[in-house]
Amino acid sequence: MRAQDVRLEPQLIERLRERSTELIRHADLWTGEVVAAPAERAALERLADRLANTYPYGDARYVGQILKPPHPVAWAAYATTMLLNPNNHALDGGPATAALEKEAVAQVAEMFGYPAHLGHLTSSGTLANLEALWIARELHPGKVVLSSEAAHYTHSRMCAIIGAPHEKVAQDAFGRLDVVALEDRLVRGDVGTVVATLGTTGMGALDPVHLIADLCEKYGVRLHVDGAYGGFHTLLAADPALVDPAPFRALPRADSIVVDPHKHGLQPYGCGCVVFRDPSVGQLYSHDSPYTYFTSDDLHLGEISIECSRAGASAAAFWTTLQALPLTRSGLGAGLAEQREATLRITASLRASTVLDVAVTPDLDIVCPFPRAATTSEVSRLSQAVFDAAAQEGWHLAELRVSSRWLARQHPDLTVDSEDTVILRCCVMKPEHAQVADAFVATLERAASSAV
Ligand SMILES: *Cc1c(COP(=O)(O)O)cnc(C)c1O
Repeated sequence: MRAQDVRLEPQLIERLRERSTELIRHADLWTGEVVAAPAERAALERLADRLANTYPYGDARYVGQILKPPHPVAWAAYATTMLLNPNNHALDGGPATAALEKEAVAQVAEMFGYPAHLGHLTSSGTLANLEALWIARELHPGKVVLSSEAAHYTHSRMCAIIGAPHEKVAQDAFGRLDVVALEDRLVRGDVGTVVATLGTTGMGALDPVHLIADLCEKYGVRLHVDGAYGGFHTLLAADPALVDPAPFRALPRADSIVVDPHKHGLQPYGCGCVVFRDPSVGQLYSHDSPYTYFTSDDLHLGEISIECSRAGASAAAFWTTLQALPLTRSGLGAGLAEQREATLRITASLRASTVLDVAVTPDLDIVCPFPRAATTSEVSRLSQAVFDAAAQEGWHLAELRVSSRWLARQHPDLTVDSEDTVILRCCVMKPEHAQVADAFVATLERAASSAV
C-alpha cells in the first residue's frame, strides 16, 4: 500500500478528536480553562482528519520502521512542561529545564562509563553526530573521517557540510565494520577519526568498538561512536546471553558518543544526545551572545551546542522518564531485554522455517527475514509478495535493499543474479512485541507459503 493511502481506524480518529478538545481546555496555565472558539475547534477536527493518514505505530502489528511510541510519563512530562514552553538555549530561557538537561545527560554519560564528560541534548541524532564530527574536524583538520558502508548515510553528508574528507570502510559478512579493511586504510595514513556504529540503522549490527578502539589507539586516531540506535542497549551489557558485551564495555574509550533518546529512550521526537569524554572540547564551541547569557556565570547550554533554541520540554520529558525508569538493567533495560528475547525467539523460528530464513542473526532487535529461493532476484520478488500478504493480515513490515554479493556471503546456496536484493526488515522494539512474536512468525510463514 502506498504511504498516502494509509488510514488509521475511524475509532482512533474519533478518539483523537476527543483528546484534542480536552487538551485545548488545559492549554493556558495562567487564565484557567481555555474555551475554544468554533473556528479553533473546527481546525482541530480537521487536524484529526488529516492525521488519519498515519501508520499505526503503537499497534503491536507495526514492526516496520524505527518508531516507538513515547512512554506515557514522557508524554505527560512533555505536555506539562509545554504549559511553560521553556527554551534550553540559555538559562534566561529555562533555568529549571536546563538543570534537568544537565542531570539527564550526566546519567547518560555515566551509563557509558565516562568519569567526566561534556554533553547536551540535541533535536536529533543527526545534529548530535554533526557536533561530534565537527569537534573531530577541529581537532584533526584536513584529516579523513572513516565510517563503515553500513553506517548511517548522515556521516558522509555531515562531513560534506563541515568540509571534512570522508571515506567508507567495508562491512563484514555480519554487517559490522570490517576491522581488517579498517587497518588496511589506517596504515595508509591521513585519517583523523573513525566512526563506529553501535546498532546500524539497517540491521542493528554492532561494530566491534573494542577492536576499533585498539586500532584507533595504535594509529593515534579519534574514535566517535554513533549509538543513536543501540546506545541504550549498554544497559544489557552485563548479560552475555542477550548481547555481546565487548563493544559496550569499550565505550569509555570512545572520544564521543551519540545516542537518540527518541529511539530507544522512549522520548517524543526532538531528542538526541551527544557526550564527549574530554570536557575541554567545550572551548571549541566558544562564542559570545549579544542577546543572552547575561543572567548567570553558570554554563548556558547554548554555549556548548550548535543549535540555539531547543525545547526545554524535551529535557523535562527525558529527565522525568529517567526518574521513573532509571538507566539500569531493571529500569529502562527491562523493556530492551524483553524485546531482545523476542527477537532471538523470532530469529530461531525463522531459521528453522522451510520457507523463510534471516539475513544474519541480529545483534540487537532488528530482524531481516527473506523467503527462501534459488536466486537473489527471486528473493526480491518473493519478499515483496510476503510484504503485501502480511499487510493483508494487518502487519506492517519494512523492506531493506542489500548487496546481493553481501547476502550470499552468509547464504552461499543463493545464486547471485542481481546487483541488489530486497529483503524484509522488522524492528522488534516495542513492549507488545514479546507477546506477538509467535503470531508474527506464523503470519510470515503463511505469507511466504502462499507467495509463489
Ligand atoms: C537514526 C540514526 C541516525 C540519525 O538520527 P536522527 O535522530 O534520525 O536524526 C544516525 N545514526 C544512526 C545509527 C541512527 O540509527
